[in-house]
Amino acid sequence: MSRHHDDWTHGEPRLVLGVCDDCENRWYLPRDHCPRCGSGRSSSRQSSGDGLCVAVTRSHVTGEVGGAPLSLALVQLDEGPVVMGRVRDELVPGDRARVEFVPDGTGTALVPSFSRRALT
Ligand SMILES: [Zn+2]
Repeated sequence: MSRHHDDWTHGEPRLVLGVCDDCENRWYLPRDHCPRCGSGRSSSRQSSGDGLCVAVTRSHVTGEVGGAPLSLALVQLDEGPVVMGRVRDELVPGDRARVEFVPDGTGTALVPSFSRRALT
């Protein structure tokens, strides 16, 4: 059975990962071929949304609602892939982070945003 991009949940509040059927490499965003081994056989899987913040970038974008600078975080998901999202509250590299999906301000899209997650 071949998988198509219809499986990807566009607009749904979740992170979906590709998983290579041959080498089990995992990645974020739809791809036709595994970036590691080139296999065309892959499956999609929903991420837990939990990961480790590896970097935070503060960009001084004017025109943001509230006038606050926009912070972007790179978070390495527990499944392996690194994804970029907005920072919802104070988040520094090394923090455990959890993804949430918040409206982007235009009401038409949900953007991944990361909050600090308390260690348990
Ligand atoms: Zn592969």
